[in-house]
Amino acid sequence: MSVNEMSHRGKAFLSIIQKAEADLRSLLNIPESYAVLFLQGGATSQFAAVPLNLCTTNANVVDYIVTGSWSDKAAKEAAKYCSPKVVWSGKGDKYTRIPSFDEVQQSPNAKYLHICANETIHGVEFKDEYPKPVNSDAVLVADMSSNFCSKPIDVSKFGIIYAGAQKNVGPSGVTIVIVRKDLVKNAQPITPVMLDYKTHVENKSLYNTPPCYNIYMCGLVFEDLLAQGGLGEVEKTNIKKAGILYEAIDKSGGFYKCPVEKSVRSLMNVPFTIAKPDLEGVFIEEAKKEKMVELKGHRSVGGMRASIYNAMPLAGVEKLVAFMKDFQQKHG
Ligand SMILES: *Cc1c(COP(=O)(O)O)cnc(C)c1O
Repeated sequence: MSVNEMSHRGKAFLSIIQKAEADLRSLLNIPESYAVLFLQGGATSQFAAVPLNLCTTNANVVDYIVTGSWSDKAAKEAAKYCSPKVVWSGKGDKYTRIPSFDEVQQSPNAKYLHICANETIHGVEFKDEYPKPVNSDAVLVADMSSNFCSKPIDVSKFGIIYAGAQKNVGPSGVTIVIVRKDLVKNAQPITPVMLDYKTHVENKSLYNTPPCYNIYMCGLVFEDLLAQGGLGEVEKTNIKKAGILYEAIDKSGGFYKCPVEKSVRSLMNVPFTIAKPDLEGVFIEEAKKEKMVELKGHRSVGGMRASIYNAMPLAGVEKLVAFMKDFQQKHG
C-alpha cells in the first residue's frame, strides 16, 4: 500500500509521522517542552497564526525586525491581528545587512519579537547570534523556511520556529512548526480552527487529514540528514559550498558582485550581479545550456541568485563556479 492510500489514522501512517517527529527532534535536539507540528498552508499561513496565537487582542504590541521581503510580508500580515511595530528595517540599505542588536529599539511591552532567520530573496542570514526580546515575558519567533535544518540551532532560544518544508526538507505542502508548549493556550477568539496551535497540539497534527505523503518524504530527508552525521556535518558541507561561490564572486575583480554584507551572507541563497547588467540575460541563457537552471534573481531584485539548499551537492556548486570563471573569460 502506498502512503497515498493509507488512512491518516491507521497504524502504518502513525508510525511514519511519529518517526519523522522523533528524527527531527534528534536532529535539532528539540527539548521535551516544545511541540512539533506538521501543518498545511505554508509559512505564509504562519504569518497570521503567530499573532493569532500569541496576542489576545489586536491592541497587543509586537516587534518585527525586517531584513528582507519575507519579514516585511510577515509584519504586514500581522497588522490584521495585532499592532506590529517595525523596530528595524534594512530597506534603506536594499536589505543587505542585519542590525547589531543594540541598534534595535524594542518595545518594552511587546508580546514577541519576530525575525526571518534567512531572507531567501535577499540572501541575508542571522548567524549564531539572535536578538533577545527585552520584555522578559516575550519570546523570539523565527521564520526559518529557507535555512531550516541547514545547520544546528539552539531551539531553546525561540518561542516559535516555523518553516515551509519545500526549501530544505521536503516537497511543498507541509509546514513545520516548533512551538514551546506553554505558549499554546488561548488564541484570539476569531482564530480559524486550522490556525490554532492548540488544535494541532491536542490532536498531534491529525485533527484533519494532514499532507501524509509530504510528511513521509520529510521523514526520509530527516533520516538522510541523520545518516550524514547530523546538522553539524550538514553545516560543514554548506559552509564549503557557499564558501567557494562567494570566493568566486569576491575574486572576480568586480565582474561579479554580491551586495550583501560579508558577515551575514546566506549559506543557502547567494544573490549576485554582473558589472555589465546586459550580460545577465546572456549568463542565464548560457548556464541553461549547461543544464544549470533557476539562476535568475527574484523578479523584485533582479540579477542572479544561486539557491544552494542542502540537496545541492558540492559538485553542483563547483560546476557553477567553473562556469562563472569561463563566462568571465569569454565576456569580461
Ligand atoms: C518561501 C518562504 C516563505 C513562504 O513559504 P510558503 O510555504 O510558500 O508560504 C516564507 N518565508 C520564507 C523565509 C521563505 O523562504
